[in-house]
Amino acid sequence: MAASSKSTETKESQANTVKENNTSSSDSGITNPKDGEDFGYFFFPERDRLKKQEKSFLSKLWNREDITNFKCKANVLSCMKSNDKVKLMVTALESHGCPVELDRHISCEMCRDRVNGGFDPKSMQVVICQNNVHTQDVCCNVLAHELLHAFDYCRAKVNFENLRHLACSEIRAANMFHCSLGAAMSSGEASLFHVKERHQLCVKNKALQSMRLVRNVTEFEAMMVIDDVFDKCYNDTEPFGRRCFKNLGRAKRALNESRNYYDFSDID
Ligand SMILES: [Zn+2]
Repeated sequence: MAASSKSTETKESQANTVKENNTSSSDSGITNPKDGEDFGYFFFPERDRLKKQEKSFLSKLWNREDITNFKCKANVLSCMKSNDKVKLMVTALESHGCPVELDRHISCEMCRDRVNGGFDPKSMQVVICQNNVHTQDVCCNVLAHELLHAFDYCRAKVNFENLRHLACSEIRAANMFHCSLGAAMSSGEASLFHVKERHQLCVKNKALQSMRLVRNVTEFEAMMVIDDVFDKCYNDTEPFGRRCFKNLGRAKRALNESRNYYDFSDID
């Protein structure tokens, strides 16, 4: 899985993933048992279709999981219809030749730990973690975040296994969807003074958390990569053309503006 979001980021962004000694673990203590690098697929057990069990007759009747799945799909549908950020991402993807079909490209699934969502470039699907995403607000935020990864993949063929590409896409997602001024200030990451620096720090922290969730990298390693690509990726605000601070109605205007497309090949 290329990129994912955790439930403690539901206010706006990713939560911490604690990893040490080349093992993957989360802040809730669940450990990725796989050796080596699995790019975060551990948190999405339903991605491994081969391991999916055939349902028994009784389990084919509506159960709690089906209801959760139904609610998740209803939230996704509402986000696609009414959330400006999600609508913009869908339109941007379409304009780059990657139309988003609800049933084909967005999947509500059960996930491990407190992961909220992810983007799977192998299947070109955004995953919403139905067991962790319970409200429409959170669903829209996760959907917008993951669609941004899909957008980067669509427009620039981002290689999410390349740490620099992953860092860039996470910086962009944090910048546009999670580190609004209000959120950064309320989380203590911004103050009336040094707002720009605080905002950048918020973005770096969110990107760091996201990267460490899905990759076996040390904090130092991830910070080095983030620092290296930061300026370029922080200033690349496509498809919004600007940072998406809350309540400013910017998403609606963004598509009509001129754009400078960012080429991920610059950061190979
Ligand atoms: Zn992400």
